[in-house]
Amino acid sequence: MRTVYFDNNATTRVDPVVFEEMRPYFCDLYGNPSSMHSFGGQVGKKLGEARERVAAVLGCDPAEIVFTSCGTEGDNTAIRSALEAQPDKRHIVTTKVEHPAVLNLVNHLVKKGYHLTLLGVDEQGMIDLDELRDSLRDDTAIVSIMWANNETGTVFPVAEAADIVKSRGILFHTDAVQAVGKIPIDLRALPIDFLVLSGHKLHAPKGIGALFVRRGTPFRPFMIGGHQERGRRGGTENVPGIIALGKACELAAAHMEEENTRVRELRDRLERGLLAAIPDTRLNGHPTERLPNTLNLSFKFVEGEAILLLLDQIGVCASSGSACTSGSLEPSHVLRAMGVPFTYAHGSVRFSLSRFNTREEVDFVVREMPKIIERLRSISPFSEEHSPSACTA
Ligand code: PLP
Repeated sequence: MRTVYFDNNATTRVDPVVFEEMRPYFCDLYGNPSSMHSFGGQVGKKLGEARERVAAVLGCDPAEIVFTSCGTEGDNTAIRSALEAQPDKRHIVTTKVEHPAVLNLVNHLVKKGYHLTLLGVDEQGMIDLDELRDSLRDDTAIVSIMWANNETGTVFPVAEAADIVKSRGILFHTDAVQAVGKIPIDLRALPIDFLVLSGHKLHAPKGIGALFVRRGTPFRPFMIGGHQERGRRGGTENVPGIIALGKACELAAAHMEEENTRVRELRDRLERGLLAAIPDTRLNGHPTERLPNTLNLSFKFVEGEAILLLLDQIGVCASSGSACTSGSLEPSHVLRAMGVPFTYAHGSVRFSLSRFNTREEVDFVVREMPKIIERLRSISPFSEEHSPSACTA
């Protein structure tokens, strides 16, 4: 059975071209880039090239890139750095729909005595810039607003948000893990202090990421150790990963046009096909301000997990917007923040495409999904328009 992989917001296939680029740096060119000998030195040069490639896709200076182990490390480093560098400022602003890499960190910081404002979103998953403006305080240390949401694909007005925040002299961080490689980014034109990306979302391997730190932004390292990354992140570099990330960024720039035309058309074809074929289905996320690859749909009266299991049986990989916590299926924090009604929130499925997907795969899912939903609805206890009174989401 072939696999139809529509779960690219979870992770992506390593591009074979990226793999070829990193391959020599395991068994042949394995020197330590910090070594004095030329065997290590040649690796150091290659790291420099990777740094330039990452900087090019973001429109920043290579010296402003710090390699990390993942997106989570980048988010943690940026926020903790801002707090450590400004000990008299103890207020953080972020949104209710951030990834756990930010949300669980700030909730942890609240327990340590920091103050937190969580910005809400409307029913399309969009933030309100007036609410952002009103949330800023003299003791706000950092504002963290994701560029694009991993569950719905909704793209936030990061440029406007950064302008508002910087006009108050406050540090601005954006988790761009889902945005880099999918939509153009030019840090030359944006007053952003910290930006985070992760390799495995853009066809590089897992376990490599990057943090942009604007020159002049106060910075305190999270990983304290050797002098790697010019003292900004201790630890021997993940050489093959960094080289892969550089190549993946170069390829992302080359494929940006395709991402916003062919991949978008595939996603739109899937969206139109499913909405037309399956009644009582709604789109979660912004109709237009959305990543070109992401489609989050809710099917009334069915459980997302049940849909995923039946999709899995025919080789289709997708994600659901609920997580099984303490034995009950809770709709995701993102759908709850958007106020998606209970009967829809539980039946959400996220399809996320990439340049490796085809029209045949889309048409296969459009053909198969109506049968799956019909089958599940025929056995659903909720189809009679009732929902358990204990659930208010
Ligand atoms: N931020 C967002 C928006 C994400 O989607 C993810 C991963 O799903 C992360 C952060 C964490 O990235 P990593 O898995 O590289 O730690």
